[in-house]
Amino acid sequence: MTANSGALGVTSMRTHLCGRVAISDVGTAVRVCGWVAKRREHGEHLAFIDLRDHTGIVQCVVPGTVDVRSEYVLAIEGVVRPRPEGTVNPDLPTGMVELGECSVTVLASADPPPFVVEDRVEVDEGIRLKYRYVDLRRPRMQANLRLRAAVNGALRAAMDRQGFVEVETPLLWAPTPEGAREFVVPSRLHHGSSYVLPQSPQLAKQLLMVAGVDRYYQIARCLRDEDLRADRQFEFSQLDIEASFVTQPDILGFVSEAVLDGAEAATGERPGSIETMTWAQAIDRFGTDKPDLRFGMELIDLSAVFEGTEVKAFGAPCVRAIVLPGGATLSRSRLDTLTDRAKAMGARGLAWFRVTDGEGEGAGNGGGAGNGGGAGNGGAVGLDSPLDRFLSEDERSGLLAGTAAQAGDLVLVVADEYRLACTVLGQLRVELAGRPVSEGPYRYVWVVDFPMFDGVDGAGHPVAAHHPFTMPHPDDLDRLETDPLSVRSQAYDLVLNGWELGSGSVRIHRGDIQGRVFAVLGISEEEAESRFGFLLGAFRYGAPPHAGFAVGIDRLAAIFAGEDSIREVIAFPKTQSGSDPMTGAPKPVSPGTLAELGVRSVAVPAQG
Ligand code: ASP
Repeated sequence: MTANSGALGVTSMRTHLCGRVAISDVGTAVRVCGWVAKRREHGEHLAFIDLRDHTGIVQCVVPGTVDVRSEYVLAIEGVVRPRPEGTVNPDLPTGMVELGECSVTVLASADPPPFVVEDRVEVDEGIRLKYRYVDLRRPRMQANLRLRAAVNGALRAAMDRQGFVEVETPLLWAPTPEGAREFVVPSRLHHGSSYVLPQSPQLAKQLLMVAGVDRYYQIARCLRDEDLRADRQFEFSQLDIEASFVTQPDILGFVSEAVLDGAEAATGERPGSIETMTWAQAIDRFGTDKPDLRFGMELIDLSAVFEGTEVKAFGAPCVRAIVLPGGATLSRSRLDTLTDRAKAMGARGLAWFRVTDGEGEGAGNGGGAGNGGGAGNGGAVGLDSPLDRFLSEDERSGLLAGTAAQAGDLVLVVADEYRLACTVLGQLRVELAGRPVSEGPYRYVWVVDFPMFDGVDGAGHPVAAHHPFTMPHPDDLDRLETDPLSVRSQAYDLVLNGWELGSGSVRIHRGDIQGRVFAVLGISEEEAESRFGFLLGAFRYGAPPHAGFAVGIDRLAAIFAGEDSIREVIAFPKTQSGSDPMTGAPKPVSPGTLAELGVRSVAVPAQG
């Protein structure tokens, strides 16, 4: 650390930060403040106190005994000296030095902590969240909060540099179009009416474009009442941006710049540029629109090999495979579990082939061993599978050549409708290669040209894949009414290591196209007017072409911090069940408050 960062900690109460006391300070009288990490007596005449602040720990040697316990808050004055020979601690940045001849002032006493404040100690998450202020004292959590702040700072700086203006938009707002369940805030002044907490500043930022702001950004808090997961909380933060007179490549450029700056601030390394693939390529190669590019195992098309096959299991419009290198050792019960997984995802089944070295490992499996064509495999290989004996010679060699599988590998095949086959194999690919999202290297990818619609709803209307203000792809606009499910949109996602970091789109700024999209979605003019009338009204006063994006900051910070749950980079997250063990939220509201709000609470009888 630089001398400067040490100086930043100086206040009227301390001269140094605990973790910054250095060998160059030897001979200096210093005053440090912090919490007692450890205290031990050395006979009657000497006490050792490890004092901790957010920068680390320094060992203080106090003559006599001191009446302090763990987590007491102290100010300690002493003189920096080298540690005696044999007591140097190479694991500690301050391990070369100690403070000698210390005098101790107790600033606050402390009850025994609910758990030891150390990274190594495993503590139940409920307890951690109940005593979050103690949990956050741990070095790992301190580092996470500071890393997140550094990422935020870099994102802000990148947007400022690119001419974006930070504008704050309201939290008490009207419904927004992301389509998740909303948090509702009853109005005291307008009984029977409510505000809605924004799922994103989507409509506000589009209005800012109509208002001529030109380039807007905000580190925005978004609220969605959806089930919580490792990568999802009720409230989350995003770098939200919108710009006018731009096209898709402009937005991808602005966001890439900010995210790469954020990566550099967090990791010290700036990744190269971010690659782009279309949604169709992502599905075709990885079976998902969130491709994890850290490993291969791409989907292989075997449809031509099995065209007109006699094997019933492979009689389907699409036959696709993945190869798990070294996977031939997977046990039969593991393969059965994978088959069950595939079926649970809707596949008719899952065929597996262990690739053998052709030396008879397939014995007992219908004589498949040694039958392999081995084309391109650098030697004779065979297949071990209950299905092998049904394959023709051409199919066997086609499968081996098409997959380029080597002895010891496992080939998994799904024969089904195209999307289903891709999705199932894409999911199995991730489950089998399974690596934590935060594990390096960081592989970013822009996924572009998303479909405009994602299936149809109960009433037969296509469902918007992004939100209803997303501009269709200009080449597909003429099919909007006749073949909507084939229409691509100008929507794009940013993906990192298989996690969606964010999404955005070019927006519809023309009333005629918006009207057509609403009609396809089955949103009547009245409904559009009542839900989004204020936006549509604003557009009639001159809307510039505009586009935007939002980057999830919690996910970005979690990955950079090496965490697989966003809760580890949020100061006060909710538990999986949406509660806060520290404050007790959500809590019943007093009858008086409810009356003021014009709300009556109806007790719902307990289930069961
Ligand atoms: N409002 C969108 C979201 O929160 C992002 C965007 O389209 O800008 O996902």
